[in-house]
Amino acid sequence: MEPIPLVHASLGERELSAVAEVFASGWPAGQGPKGKALEAQLAQKYQVADAVAVSNCGAALHLALMALGVKPGDEVIVADYTFPAPAHAVRYLGAVPVFADVRADTGTVDPRAVADLVGPRTAGVIAVDTVGMPADYAPLQAIADRHGLFLVEDAACAVGATYRGREAGALAEVACLSFHGRKGATSGEGGALLATDPAVAQDARLRSSFGIGSIFDMGKVVGLPIPEFTEIGYNFKLSDIAAAILQVQIGRIGELLARRNAVAAQYAELLADEELLTLPHVPEDRTHAWQSYMVTLDSSVDRAAVAADLRAQGIGCGHGTWATHVQPVFKSGHACPVSADLFRRNLAIPMHAELSVSQVERVVDALRDSLRAHSTSTRVLGGAA
Ligand SMILES: *Cc1c(COP(=O)(O)O)cnc(C)c1O
Repeated sequence: MEPIPLVHASLGERELSAVAEVFASGWPAGQGPKGKALEAQLAQKYQVADAVAVSNCGAALHLALMALGVKPGDEVIVADYTFPAPAHAVRYLGAVPVFADVRADTGTVDPRAVADLVGPRTAGVIAVDTVGMPADYAPLQAIADRHGLFLVEDAACAVGATYRGREAGALAEVACLSFHGRKGATSGEGGALLATDPAVAQDARLRSSFGIGSIFDMGKVVGLPIPEFTEIGYNFKLSDIAAAILQVQIGRIGELLARRNAVAAQYAELLADEELLTLPHVPEDRTHAWQSYMVTLDSSVDRAAVAADLRAQGIGCGHGTWATHVQPVFKSGHACPVSADLFRRNLAIPMHAELSVSQVERVVDALRDSLRAHSTSTRVLGGAA
């Protein structure tokens, strides 16, 4: 049987010809003409003051927290159920991640949990658009405003999603995007920081290039002014090769997302009556970018056995994402029971823009059979008990 991968990056001829242009230009490094054009394209698309193209979303989060002034010992409240990049970024700065539990129906951070965790050392909050589902930005912003906290949107998975008619990526004062190969728009590796305050973006851009401006720009200056290093920076620049690919990918978001939406709709239709799992719930005020399609298995189901069945038939699947607070490096006494439960029960099934109708049918048939074979529920005909 032909394999059905869990993820697949839709990169093709248009991206290749954009790369060919960069080769011909002789400037493959970062902060050149393609990088600047991408930044302008992103600032325009998201209607923000400035966009900084960087090497990945982890770097964008790191730069965001530095620009927002996070200091050692500060606490930053982070959504627990996510790829744990937000907690890593907090730790890069010697600050303390405080894990907030999530809503059971959406997997996004629960604003009540955030409100309960605010204390005298809290500097800000990082909300996550969980696998493409925007978090509750209206109540989160109200909490941030009430306590004078910053709010960062980790929109790594959410390119193309919306919340109350606004684009994910423009839902907080600073947002971080990922263009990793498993996200909805990709250059292999890549990221961006979007900011409503130009000073935040300026700080991030400077620290993304060892604390000096664009070397490409310097080469065009008449005379020989020698720039000075005034800050400790990093090399978090995005290459112009990646920027050229992303210019094409950003232009294709509508087309790629329409395909993902169609796959999600087909799963929802074919699995609507399946009692052994819960389908993803999308609240009325937002749309999903479907970076992943995660179903929550009934507690009577042996998830590992189902995953083994699917993989044996060439069908990609995974556990979805992580409960951060139980990871050894972050282990904290504070419990996030909803996140821990989703981490135990969620299953990600194939989701990408090139899945065919018949492939989705094959995934659904295999999943239904396997659920029955590996459930101890007596409610279900054919259950093991
Ligand atoms: C993938 C992901 C990241 C990390 O993105 P990179 O570009 O790989 O650094 C950060 N946050 C979330 C929520 C992610 O899913």
